[in-house]
Amino acid sequence: MAIVEFRNEPLTNFGDPALRRAQEEALRRVEGELGGRYPLIIGGEEVWTEKTIVSRSPSQPDRVVGTTASAGVAEAVRALEAAEKAFASWRLTPVEFRVRILLKAAAILRRRRFEMNAWLMHEVGKPWVEADADTAEAIDFLEYYARQMLRLAGPQPITPYPGEENEFFYIPLGVGVVHSPFNFPLAILVGMTSAALVTGNTVVVKPSVHAPVIAYKFFEVLKEAGLPDGVANYLPGDPAEIGDVLTTHPLVRFINFTGSAAVGAMLYEKAAKVQPGQKFLRRVIAEMGGKDAIVVAADADLDAAAEGIVTSAFGFSGQKCSACSRVIAEEPVYDEILARVVERARALRLGPATDPETQMGPVITAEARDRILRYIEVGKGEGRLVLGGQAVAGAPGYLVEPTIFADVDPGARIAQEEIFGPVVAFIKAKDFRQAIEFANSTQYGLTGGVYSRSRENLEYARREFHVGNLYFNRKITGALVGVQPFGGFNMSGTDSKAGGPDYLLLFMQGKSVSERL
Ligand code: NAD
Repeated sequence: MAIVEFRNEPLTNFGDPALRRAQEEALRRVEGELGGRYPLIIGGEEVWTEKTIVSRSPSQPDRVVGTTASAGVAEAVRALEAAEKAFASWRLTPVEFRVRILLKAAAILRRRRFEMNAWLMHEVGKPWVEADADTAEAIDFLEYYARQMLRLAGPQPITPYPGEENEFFYIPLGVGVVHSPFNFPLAILVGMTSAALVTGNTVVVKPSVHAPVIAYKFFEVLKEAGLPDGVANYLPGDPAEIGDVLTTHPLVRFINFTGSAAVGAMLYEKAAKVQPGQKFLRRVIAEMGGKDAIVVAADADLDAAAEGIVTSAFGFSGQKCSACSRVIAEEPVYDEILARVVERARALRLGPATDPETQMGPVITAEARDRILRYIEVGKGEGRLVLGGQAVAGAPGYLVEPTIFADVDPGARIAQEEIFGPVVAFIKAKDFRQAIEFANSTQYGLTGGVYSRSRENLEYARREFHVGNLYFNRKITGALVGVQPFGGFNMSGTDSKAGGPDYLLLFMQGKSVSERL
């Protein structure tokens, strides 16, 4: 196949009036489509259920984005069986066929870019720039995995042996289940699904209950791209009802999960049990939470650090696994970096996600807002509240102020537990080594950052700062597909490195065939 080299999809420059208008028009068009009804898709068939999931806009909760069917155990089993049936032929499709579907899906997403952005703004409350980055990343995953599959297809290099013809090649695993989180409801869902598909597996996709509509939109794209029936099945549902069957059913060969550590660890444990009729050890890919720190050394560029901290901490209201939720600063610059971060964070414009002027939108649900507010109450007993601390009164959406606590002990709850909201804890360290020690002191190990001008500090952190994605003198969010393969250590997950050269191997097994000549 002759295709151009992988390049990351550029972000939209909304400073360009024409592009801004195009986004506004898409927002209006999508507004006219809000409130639609969506079925399950099982084996290519639309399946309606009595139970439904109502998806509401976090910026304006009285607004229904869409209502989807909600699968029960019977539909879940039906979806797994449909995937199993489709696997019989899908596993034999030529690699080029599968690759072309990904490339076509990327092209369709590119054409529907502004529309997808608009759905993301409405359904999960992503401000313009964040929504656009989500769609761009989805396109990147499709383009990147398509090319990676071409590299991994066919016989792999092995040592020749006299008198024999030896071959080593990869084959798919079987039926997989994709559990995607609400916070990158397009990019992560597309990445997890497309990796499984392009390697020859079939899947049941269970999107987050907070983002089922954008997931349906991607299924429209897959259909238009020519994906055969049953290869991917759309199965929104209440995890309390169908989570277990999707984890333990003997047809489930692998689970691709991205979400919180608590749920991931639970799935991991349940999935390990070999069920009657199950012929394999189930594979689990689990990418989970973080408690990500930025370390500010005494010799850091403090303006750059303040900017990187505010972007990393408050982008999408802190609802990124990579978000900065701890700042660990060396004593000599502690007060100054705190002051500069507070000043910048105070200036953030809060509002509904659909407003192009909004820099920080709502959090996902009322429950999430209340959980964050409870953590803020905990924080008041653990540190000094220097900014924010409340929900925005009178706002229609679930807006929480950017919140900063100073003088937090590294072992405090707000310095250890993932809050998943716009809350940052400042921690003082006596020197750089202690700062890295504090940074490593949580159960997580996802992203981390260091601002320093010293080569020695950076090299020390390169060795000792135990995170899957480490950034120097830049923000710690926004990993690019192909550029910064993404995944965490410790309780941040299985370090699958999505968007990296090893990722697709997780969805395949190697077969060695030896023929005596
Ligand atoms: P979540 O754990 O609540 O849900 C994630 C997925 O698991 C959803 O599809 C959900 O429906 C499903 N799920 C929930 N309970 C289940 C159960 N009992 N059985 C089976 N499935 C179940 O997470 P969320 O709130 O949607 O997402 C936020 C979390 O995801 C944060 O912890 C964040 O750090 C993490 N995250 C991690 C990464 C990463 O790459 N490491 C990326 C994005 C988000």
